[in-house]
Formats: sequence, C-alpha cells, structure tokens
Amino acid sequence: MQYSFTKTAIIGAGISGISTAIKLLENNYDEFLIFEANDRIGGRINTIPYGNSFLELGAQYIHGQVNNPIYKLALENRLIEDKYKEILDETDDLTKENIYSDNNGVRLDEKLLDWAQFCFYNAYNLAHDLKHETNQNLGEFIYENYIRLMTEKLDPIVFKNEINQNLIDAIFQWNFKWECMFNGCESLFDMSLKNFKNYTKLDGCQIIEFNNGYKSLLQSLIGNFQENFEKNLKLNFELKNILLCHKLKNDINSECEHCKHTDDENKIVLLFDKDRVVLCERVLCTMSLGFFKENFENMIRPSALVPNEKLDAIKRMGFGTVNKIILVYEKPFWNENLELINPIWNIESREKMFETLKNKNVKTRWFEDICSFCTANNNKNVLIGWIAGNYHESLSNDEIKRDCTILLRKFLGREDIPEPIDLVRSNWYSNRFTRGSYSFYAYETFDEDTKRIAKPISFNNKIFIQFAGEATHDNFYSTVHGAYLTGLREADRIIKDL
Ligand SMILES: Cc1cc2nc3c(=O)[nH]c(=O)nc-3n(C[C@H](O)[C@H](O)[C@H](O)COP(=O)(O)OP(=O)(O)OC[C@H]3O[C@@H](n4cnc5c(N)ncnc54)[C@H](O)[C@@H]3O)c2cc1C
Repeated sequence: MQYSFTKTAIIGAGISGISTAIKLLENNYDEFLIFEANDRIGGRINTIPYGNSFLELGAQYIHGQVNNPIYKLALENRLIEDKYKEILDETDDLTKENIYSDNNGVRLDEKLLDWAQFCFYNAYNLAHDLKHETNQNLGEFIYENYIRLMTEKLDPIVFKNEINQNLIDAIFQWNFKWECMFNGCESLFDMSLKNFKNYTKLDGCQIIEFNNGYKSLLQSLIGNFQENFEKNLKLNFELKNILLCHKLKNDINSECEHCKHTDDENKIVLLFDKDRVVLCERVLCTMSLGFFKENFENMIRPSALVPNEKLDAIKRMGFGTVNKIILVYEKPFWNENLELINPIWNIESREKMFETLKNKNVKTRWFEDICSFCTANNNKNVLIGWIAGNYHESLSNDEIKRDCTILLRKFLGREDIPEPIDLVRSNWYSNRFTRGSYSFYAYETFDEDTKRIAKPISFNNKIFIQFAGEATHDNFYSTVHGAYLTGLREADRIIKDL
C-alpha cells in the first residue's frame, strides 16, 4: 500500500471538478488534490485533434445565452464568434439548408412538415407548462395532444390523404427521436411528465460552438492557475472505495487497517486502484450518475452512513446514452449550405426497404435510431450522426460505415454517395467512468431527486462527502453550465467551513 494525505479530495476532473478546483485556488486555498481515473481532464467534454482541426466526442454547444455562465466565459475569453455578442434566436442561422427526406429519397412537403412540427412543439410546450397532477408519461401526453391538435387544425382534404397520414406519423417519430437526443433518453415514454418543467432552458441561441473546441473553455478556466492546478492534479487515479474512518471507528469500523497511518481521528480513507490509499478530511464526488448507478451502493463504507433517500434517488433518476458517429469523407458530397440531413422513416415503405437489404448482410435495424446527420463548422469534410441508445456501441466501425452509407444513399436518393474514408465515434455507455451521456427526470423519478443526490453526507454536523456534477443541478441538469455551477456550489461549501 502507498499512503498519501490531503485535506480535501476532489474525485473527477470534468467541468464540475475543475470549476471547484479553480474557485478554491481563487480563494487562496490549495490544500486539495484532484483525482481523475482517465489520462486526461474534461470528462464528458472531449475535444480531440483531427487533421488540421478537431472533433467533439462529447459536449458540443453552449445552450442559451441569457444568464449562462459558460456563454459569459466564452465571450470574455473570445472563444466564440463575435456575432454571439448579440442575443440571437434559438437556431443561429436560418438560411442553412435542412433536408427532411424519406426512405425513397423523396423530400418532404414543406407545408406538411411545418404543420406537423407546429403541432408537435405545441404539444411539447403544453407538457412543459402543465400545472395539474398527472400519472401520464411525457411521450403519451405529447402523442395524445399532437393527434388532438392535428385533427383540430388540419385541413380535412390533406388529412384524409393516406400518404400524408403516414408521413405525419413518420414526422412525429422523427421529432420524438430528436427530443430523445436533447433529453438524453431512449424514449420519451421513459420520461416524467410532471417533472418535465424542472429543466430550465436559457434564452438565446442554443447551438453556439467554440471556435477551437470545448476544450478551449477548460484552458481558459484554468488560465492563470495552470501551475497550481497541474500540481494538484493526479491523473490515472481510479477511486474504488470511500471508508469513513473518523470517530465512529470504535463503533462501526474498528477493524480499519488504514487508520494507524494517521493520528488524526477525523479521516476519510480513499482506496484507489494499484493499492494506492489517500487519507483526507473531506471528499467531493463528481462522477457521473451512470457511474453512481453502477457503483454507489458498494462504494462507501460503512454503508449504514449512506442515507437510503440518496441511494433511491440515484436509482430513480434517469441517465441515457447519446452518441456521435462522425463520418469523414475525402470531400463533401453535400452543398456548402447544408446543416442537417434528417431521415424520416416512411412506415409504409420501411419493410420493403429492409427486404431489399437482406442480401447485404445488414443484421439489425440499429440505424433506424440515427436521428440526424449534421455538418460541422470547423471541419467541412465530416458529417456527424447523432443517435440515442447504446446498442450500436457493440458494432464494428466497418458495419457502421457500411450501414450509414446505405442509409444516406436511400434517404438522399443518390447511389453515388461514397463510403466514408474514416469513422470516429463516441461510446459513452461502454466508458465505465461515465456509463451513458447525461441525466433526465425519468417517469419514476421524484420531484427534487437532484437535491437528494446533491445533499452532502455528514455526521455530528460535520460534512464528510460532497457531491457535484450535472445530475446534481435542479434546473440545468444534463448541461455543461449546470455541471459548472454545481462545482462552484460545492467550492463555496468547502470555503465556508474553512
Ligand atoms: C455526446 C454528448 C453530447 C453533449 N452535448 C452537450 C452540449 O452540446 N451542451 C451541453 O451543455 N452539454 C452537453 N453534454 C453534457 C455535458 O457534457 C455534461 O453535462 C458535462 O460535461 C458533465 O460534467 P461533469 O463534471 O458533471 O461530469 P464528467 O464530465 O463526467 O466528469 C466526471 C469525471 O469523473 C471521472 N471519474 C469517474 N469515475 C471515477 C473514479 N472512480 N475515480 C476517479 N475519477 C472518476 C470521469 O473520468 C470524469 O472525468 C453532452 C454530453 C455528451 C456525452
């Protein structure tokens, strides 16, 4: 065993762990160490160099401008384009082309599309503003109201047309997928209706990208504290267990072999991989909710000290997977002005399409889950496929490349589309330090479960274990700005007790 000591331990160097560390340093407190399981900082912010540019495997956008601390930091440090000095609309460039086409390669009628979108988002907003008690899930509510609005408002001549009816359903399914992406779930039927209002969307543009990637935000945040930050950062340290070996040891944990290494009774013992042990007085856990779901129950000992309400909240809160499939081409086969390709699965011709694919060795229909392919501002040769769920993580790169090519050829009606020359993909579910992408209020989640997850564990009025990370923010869960603010919140708690 190798023993070392620190006053405060921060577990995880994602944005929440980093924001805590920097706030502590700003307050002249440096008796802490940050332990990160990976060999890099950033967690779910993961900008990787690619060619002359970069790719984002995790967070990509700043969601909203008004009162968004990440937007403020990005603007102050000139990390985003000057046009964002103004508060813009939700989508920043309405002149870009969005293709909505079906599996026969036919573009959707714009009027029909606008109308179906209008009904969907009316139903969606009704769900957000809902005031009455209900046991429905989000998906059911939206579907019911979508159908109601559709029948109330649709021109009867269009509505009776069977082809349009099929398309209307298909557009609904696509919107459903789109919202799964934003909410981090696999189905809106898994989401809570009554707690849907808990998420607060900040005003302004929702899709602001960093000129040099999200990583530049971390570099700016660390800024002048680079030296101290690096001194306090321990990469490749995987926390396995937290043992509370403080004054309680005579009662509950008298066997603790580690306490003899310190005279101080108020110690927490952190057990890391490779037999490394760190003794500290306080620990801040910033691991993802996905990690907690898998490990929390056995992580803290004695387990009697972990309130059941926290454990239950961790189990109830939703945590889904959203991934990116980045297709790299020799040169773009799309127009310069393209923003999105949205495959709209026509229910009628879908079966016929899969019949024709049988001899191509396409084993599963996984690619039905791809919601959209978007272009990237910083890299003109790539298309980024967005997909919710994790089944596809088990597929090989070759299978994914081949199936995406089939999909694009069918939906764009172009047999000349080449195979990508490279594929880069995220696998957030297979990553055992994340086990998914971001959190959401699931159907079974109780109101204020984020507060239960965030609540520190104390004994005799002394705090031992604190919690930060996106899943601990009441209104901005799932986002970078939410995670950042939870880091500041916990830094304040540490500073208050100094
Ligand atoms: C594909 C994708 C797209 C996204 N897009 C956006 C977006 O556009 N805009 C937006 O605002 N948000 C987006 N998000 C969400 C955003 O990335 C997260 O909410 C945020 O980065 C979470 O930060 P965090 O500090 O809470 O957690 P993390 O970034 O997960 O940090 C936790 C750290 O703890 C480490 N760790 C875990 N277990 C251990 C252990 N046992 N020992 C030591 N260290 C450990 C992890 O390695 C990790 O570095 C996206 C996320 C994904 C996955």
